[in-house]
Amino acid sequence: MTKTELRQIWEKTQGHCHFCGDPVQFDKRGWRDGDLAGYWDVDHVIQKDKGGSVQADNCLPACTRCNRLRWHRKGEQMRELIFLGLIARDEIRQQTGVGRVLAQLREARLTKNKLRRKRSDGNRVQE
Ligand SMILES: [Zn+2]
Repeated sequence: MTKTELRQIWEKTQGHCHFCGDPVQFDKRGWRDGDLAGYWDVDHVIQKDKGGSVQADNCLPACTRCNRLRWHRKGEQMRELIFLGLIARDEIRQQTGVGRVLAQLREARLTKNKLRRKRSDGNRVQE
């Protein structure tokens, strides 16, 4: 992938992870051990093995942390994330104090992410 294509992908979200909305720095791309702040990689919206293109139009920036959560967690770690997600979902559904805060945080992140994507390329990215 050329630097121009990488820049196009990075600019789609104005340099933010398309999952969590955290900022990523263009020059901090890829994998590393230790502090992952600002690191990102190319995420294929439609997976390559499901027929997704490898071109920039099928790609968005994902921070390394989210990319690792998605692809590199196994067994126990995945169960913990799902378990926490289920607890959070139940709190939101029951509209507890914690649930209301979680729902607000979730909405704020989703709204920010959507606004960034609309502004950057004028088109809404398919979710
Ligand atoms: Zn992220």
